[in-house]
Amino acid sequence: MPHPATWLRVTEAGLYCDPGDFHIDPTRAVPRAVITHGHSDHARPDHGAVLATAETLAIMRARMGDDRAGAAQQAMAPGEGVMRNGVGIRLVPAGHVLGSAQVVLDWQGSRAVISGDYKRRPDPTCAPFEPVACDVFVTEATFALPVFRHPPVEQEVAKLLESLRLFPDRAHVIGVYSLGKCQRLIALLRRAGWERPIYLHGALMALCALYEELGVALGPLLPVPLSKRGAPPTLAGEVVLAPPSAETTPWARRLAEPVVCAASGWMRVRQRAKARGIELPLIISDHADWDELLATCAEVEAPEVWVTHGREDALIHALSLRDVRGRALHLVGLGEEDEGEAAPVETAPA
Ligand SMILES: [Zn+2]
Ligand SMILES: [Zn+2]
Repeated sequence: MPHPATWLRVTEAGLYCDPGDFHIDPTRAVPRAVITHGHSDHARPDHGAVLATAETLAIMRARMGDDRAGAAQQAMAPGEGVMRNGVGIRLVPAGHVLGSAQVVLDWQGSRAVISGDYKRRPDPTCAPFEPVACDVFVTEATFALPVFRHPPVEQEVAKLLESLRLFPDRAHVIGVYSLGKCQRLIALLRRAGWERPIYLHGALMALCALYEELGVALGPLLPVPLSKRGAPPTLAGEVVLAPPSAETTPWARRLAEPVVCAASGWMRVRQRAKARGIELPLIISDHADWDELLATCAEVEAPEVWVTHGREDALIHALSLRDVRGRALHLVGLGEEDEGEAAPVETAPA
């Protein structure tokens, strides 16, 4: 049985399956691509044929336009399989954002699973991660340091609700990534009983509308009203979602004494929150934390784990202590959207 290293390799465009002649999450336009999810570091424009879940294809069309989301788009439901040149391709939920999927590849009796980005915590806006036993597990490592342990999400939402109760005269503006984090936070607030309209920065409207179209109910959402010259600030006591750092732009002047919040796994690092002027850091991540990464690598029972991007050193070391061979792929171009941005390793946790 051929080891996956003989049929899956890193090219300039990213991970490539030789017998199947396709890339997975290529970082540049290629003839055939399998895409794990819609974040822009995984889903690039202008491929020839694109295979992905229907939700990921819809997200790609919404973000890059119909004409750039792949000349030929093939939707595949999770669990379904196709063969290409003798390579079995199956998509399995990754629990990261709506439509996110792991790519399960079978070739002559050996199996590789490419996770894409993933998390193990429940998320009301997408299907949960399903572990699949394999010979090689290809994982991300965004938060692969023991200091990164995400607290229960309910605890973070409770912090926000408490602040809203304590400061009814202030708007709470929360920096969120437009795909995934935004909709998850809305859904979490709804679950926690927040029924008021949630106000959105214009940059977040389209994907929220798409989530609703795809069956994820988000409750009443309103655009942040335009401010007229000289008008008093508004939205005291309300929840306002905006792209990260929007609070530093003139846009934010219309908000009443904003409490600046951010929802990200990086908020574990107190200095990072401070440097960004975040008054209320919320540790809410769509990526696996240290424990989830190790638990997942154990569950899939792979004797070998390849790490695409992130903090590979610590993870590979920890795996070696568990008799799992680790390999850093150093894929460039990944980790540019959502929480993948590089953080200084030396900073202490909060
Ligand atoms: Zn992602
Ligand atoms: Zn990513």
